[in-house]
Amino acid sequence: MADLNSLLLQALTASGSGSNLSMRELLLSQLDSDAPEAALLANYLKQQDENELSSEGEDDPIPLYRSPQEVEAKFEEMAKTVQELRARLDEVDQIYEELEELRERDEMISAALGACYCWGRNRQCPDCNGRGRPGTFLPDDRLFAKFVLPAVQVMKQRKKA
Ligand SMILES: [Zn+2]
Repeated sequence: MADLNSLLLQALTASGSGSNLSMRELLLSQLDSDAPEAALLANYLKQQDENELSSEGEDDPIPLYRSPQEVEAKFEEMAKTVQELRARLDEVDQIYEELEELRERDEMISAALGACYCWGRNRQCPDCNGRGRPGTFLPDDRLFAKFVLPAVQVMKQRKKA
């Protein structure tokens, strides 16, 4: 992403000289579209534009941020938004990672028990039509030995004692 200070300076110069270039146009023109932060920021600005257009009517020009305080406040607000979006994206990544792990485990255990991966709970399931409860299919030998036998052995020992 382009250096924020230089952007700030350009924005101030532009508005000071009476140019029609708005802060957001300037930012958008300066952003490196390859950087993920830039894409987020650009989307945010675009959305803000759309919100303002829809609330103020299409003929209204995009407002200028005239004072340095306004520009700085806008920057801080945007930086915060980008930070929040990044945190959300990290959360989503983590959730996907966990989901992937759970799916893998679910597939192994259902195969160990001869169940469909939907456990017979999905009537639209293309593999079992909702009938794939444990024992419906032949259990996978290797997975059965890995996940089920140890539990069976413990239960047998408990009964003996
Ligand atoms: Zn199924």
